[in-house]
Amino acid sequence: MKISNAIVEQIALRLGFTLVGFTSAELLQKETAFYRKWLNNGYGAEMEYMNRNIDKRANVKLVYHEARSVVSLGINYYVPLNHVDNEREGKISRYAWGKDYHLVLWNKLGELIKELKTIDAKFIGMSYVDTGPVMDKVWAVRSGLGWMGKHTNVINPAKGSWFFIAAIITNYEFDQSNVVADHCGTCTACLDACPTSAFPSPYVLDARKCISYQTIENMSDIPELLSGKFNGWIFGCDICQDVCPWNKKFSFETGENEFFPADGKIAIALSEVEAMTEKSFKEQFAESPIKRAKLKGLKRNAKFLKKNI
Ligand code: SF4
Ligand code: SF4
Repeated sequence: MKISNAIVEQIALRLGFTLVGFTSAELLQKETAFYRKWLNNGYGAEMEYMNRNIDKRANVKLVYHEARSVVSLGINYYVPLNHVDNEREGKISRYAWGKDYHLVLWNKLGELIKELKTIDAKFIGMSYVDTGPVMDKVWAVRSGLGWMGKHTNVINPAKGSWFFIAAIITNYEFDQSNVVADHCGTCTACLDACPTSAFPSPYVLDARKCISYQTIENMSDIPELLSGKFNGWIFGCDICQDVCPWNKKFSFETGENEFFPADGKIAIALSEVEAMTEKSFKEQFAESPIKRAKLKGLKRNAKFLKKNI
């Protein structure tokens, strides 16, 4: 039996995905040119892996030579809790409150592909979640999941931007979804709210100045010129998405229990980080996105925040 867009949508929604869209596996010419320029400006900071496999990022057929379509999927992770300013604690970004989204999404993607294969054994799908040479945000925009906001996150006009994105590259041909128009208009709320002025211009993020990059990806010291600008964030930063009117209007509670903080904690005491050992760090964050920063990074972040109390 042939797999239709509707069948994929039906199974994906049943598995807990919030958004599904389809696009053909075309060359990403315009987007790759923009990406190269971004890298050449140094905005990718020390993320060396971003310089790799640009040919594959541009041409998905170099990742999977029989690729005909890309199915983009989104899953809402919004938990209706808010941080309270407390100088003794470090705020954790929403995406890291619960279980590592890679684990949650890989499970669901595996199940989705398995079910599609039982409908048509010829279906082949390769799934990507934020890894590999696949520009998943670009595919999400092309698949009609939303538009790229000035803060460089994908916004859905009915559901906001609190969703994780995944992509399935497949040999199957699907009807293309309609692309969503940019609805940012004259709004500049995210650009104005960023405490480190990390947007050199709308739609362009300089990772070197972004709290998310500095607290998660950066493995060296945090630049002194960012001192006093972290607003209490110890892992990631949600400010530009928190202030977005589309999130204020459309955020809704996730149906995925695993995205809720298991211990109810959305911030962590700086003293707790100071006292943490490799053993306790591993035990506490074994299945959390926070493990990416490593204990050394988390302690550095706590120290950086403490300096400014
Ligand atoms: S995540 Fe925070 S620091 Fe980074 S761009 Fe958004 S508001 Fe600025
Ligand atoms: S805050 Fe305003 S400008 Fe920024 S992404 Fe949202 S709508 Fe666009």
